[in-house]
Formats: sequence, structure tokens, C-alpha cells
Amino acid sequence: MSTTTRRKTVFIPRMCDHALTVGAAMRAQGTRAEVLPPPDDETLGIGLNLCAGRECSPCFTCTGDIIRRARQPGFDPATSVLLMPTTAGPCRFGQYSTLLRNVLDEQGLGDMEIASPSGENSYRGFSDHPGKLRALMWEGVVAVDLLQKLLHEYRPYEGDAGSADRVYARHLDLVVEATEAGGEAHTVKSLRDAATAFAALPVDRSEPRPLIGLVGEIYLRFNTYSNQDVVRQVENAGGEVTVATLMEWLYFTNWQAKRLASSRGAHTEFLKVSLVDLYQQRAEHRLLNAVAHALRYPHEASVAQLMSNIRPYYEPMLGTEAVLSMGRAIEYARNGLSGILNIMPFSCMPGIIVAGMAPQIRADLDNVPWLDVIYAAQGGTNIQTRLEAFMHQAHQFQRRRSAQASRNSHDRPAEHSLSPLT
Ligand code: SF4
Repeated sequence: MSTTTRRKTVFIPRMCDHALTVGAAMRAQGTRAEVLPPPDDETLGIGLNLCAGRECSPCFTCTGDIIRRARQPGFDPATSVLLMPTTAGPCRFGQYSTLLRNVLDEQGLGDMEIASPSGENSYRGFSDHPGKLRALMWEGVVAVDLLQKLLHEYRPYEGDAGSADRVYARHLDLVVEATEAGGEAHTVKSLRDAATAFAALPVDRSEPRPLIGLVGEIYLRFNTYSNQDVVRQVENAGGEVTVATLMEWLYFTNWQAKRLASSRGAHTEFLKVSLVDLYQQRAEHRLLNAVAHALRYPHEASVAQLMSNIRPYYEPMLGTEAVLSMGRAIEYARNGLSGILNIMPFSCMPGIIVAGMAPQIRADLDNVPWLDVIYAAQGGTNIQTRLEAFMHQAHQFQRRRSAQASRNSHDRPAEHSLSPLT
């Protein structure tokens, strides 16, 4: 995105609620940014019509989302930019922007620009102060991760149905406003208020639920339309879910960049990424401090820890989300969670790797219940029955673990042999 195009409007597909704070950070830096509405049947249908059919399902919805917006009256491709991040990794995500370029051209939208920011170009072109923009985006992403942790910890136990969703929706708006106001102090305050509101909700935790760790493809993990609201489905089946965060992926890109720089002897690059990583960790801790008292499992194992978890099974530098999913699943199981849910779009290469490695990993982890779910673009996972069977196993696993813990004076006889995520 060039300086001359900065006056254009940036359209951001709503992969997840974090997209709202990305848009807010851009607006805070003077860029016109509009987050597209969430995907639905209409945008999926448009995407399926326009793509070749061999793409993975997030590609269909992202394509449909922007084309639907472009078909609305008054849309001017010459003053519009589609934000489509990219990656140099081996999975198909790196090809999305190329495919979208073809689709836009075929649809008469050749004047529309596609911007693919990455860690390498540091978001230059979106702001005169790309460092400030990245800091704001980071704060916004972490803030939404923390809000979602609150939602997922309180909703399964709420006394008043729908109250946790209402608190989440209200405070998501406030976090977005705080990001747009452009300073960490605003975001910290909005998180403190959110923690107070969640902590005030009437909850009944007298019947501890099996805690399920959700790992898998990043778009699917966060997109409730595409994953058929899987977290709520697990809750309805008697479980509680902890979801691998979005910040985890961003920390992973730092980890990879440092390893690559180090292997090339690129010391300046290594130092640069290390400083960014350090800055991000410190900002995360400041934001986490605002809500930690209201969370039972506030902390996450580092990416370095996750990579060390999988080293006996798989080489971390092979990358993709597969290494994160496996490393996080091991971490969850070692910390006493009662089941692992690994979700992936149909034909997702990293997801298939994880599913293939699962039997070996589970065998070393007391055969923790594990369910792989593949989502075809047009639904049809048949998840309901499989989820019920999985939750039955998770309940039994939880009971067995609790009984073992109470027999063993070294373990705590609690609902989970926690401290998960610490
Ligand atoms: S992770 Fe899987 S679903 Fe996502 S872009 Fe890559 S191959 Fe497609």
C-alpha cells in the first residue's frame, strides 16, 4: 500500500472479533478502515461460485465477504483496498491474495488494491508510524483474546442464560473504542471494567465441567459461522472450553523469525525481532494484569515451551499451525485437561498432520480423549453425535483423574489437576 493510496478505504474480512480492533487501530492512525460483516450463507455461496473449488473453506468465505461488499451500491474499487495478510509458509494461505487478485479482476474490480502486510514490511504504507500501528494492533488482539478467555470461563457456569454473552458484546465494543482512542491506558481500563463485569455475574461452579482444549486451524477456531459455534456446542454438551489464542500465532511468527535469523547469522535481524517479542510480552503482561484476578487460568505456556513439547515427535521448524496445535495439545493434556478438540477445514494440510500424529501423542499422555473434526465448506461435520460421545469420554477421564488425584497425596483433589495454562 503506497502513501498515495493511504486515503483509500481498507476493507478487513471479519475472520474473528480481533478484526474489529485491527480496524480500530488503523482508524486511530488516520487510515479509513471498515471491518466487513461476519460471513454467512450468502457470502459462502458467493465464494463457492467464484473460487475453483479446491481451496480451503476460509478462502471461500473471505472471497464472498469482499465480493458481497463490492456489489453494494456506491462501492468504488479505485478507492478501496482489501486487507489480506499473507505468509511465506507451505500451506495455501500464502496463495490467498494471488487467487483473490484473479477473482477481483474477473469481477471487474481490477482497480481494487490488495494489501498483504507482514512482519517483514512492518505495515509500512498503513501509517506514518508503523511501529505505533503495530503496537495498537497488538494491544487490541491481546485484549480480545483476554475478553474471550473471560467469556469462555464464565459462560458455562452462568446463572442467567445469555448474561455472559451480553457482557462480552458490551465490553468488546468498549475495547474497540479504547483501541481507536489510541493508547494502552484506555485498553487497560476497558479490560479492568470487563473483568469487574464478568466477576459480578452470578455463576454456579459447584459441578465442575470437563475442561476441553480447542486447537486447530486458526480461522476456523475463531470464526463461529464456519465452526458452527463449536465452543457453545461443547458447553451445551456439558463441557468448558479453553481456546488457543490468536496472540499465540503472532508469538510463533516471532519465534520462527528468530530461529531463521539465527540460522542465517543475521544478528541485526535477530535482535530486531527479539526486541519486538520482548515489547509484545511486556504489553501482554500489562493487559493481563487488568483481568488476571477474574480468570482461573490466566497464563499461557510460551511458544518456546510448546516447541519443546513437540520436539520428540516432530521438527518445530517445519512450521505451519501443525506445530502449534500439537505443542498446545500436549501442554493442555499435561496440565490435566480432560480432552483435546482439533478442528480443521476440509483438506487442511496442517490439520491433517496433527490428526495423523495424534495417536502417538495421546499414547504418551494417558490416552487423553481426542476428537478431530473436519469442516466441509457446506457444513455436514456430523459433529453432534461425535461430540456427545467425546464428551462422555471426557467426563469419564475427568472422574478417573480426580479419583487418582485424591488417592495420591501429592496431587490436588480438584476438578482438574491444574494449574492449566500456567
Ligand atoms: S491452515 Fe489449512 S485451512 Fe488454513 S490456509 Fe492453510 S491449508 Fe488452508
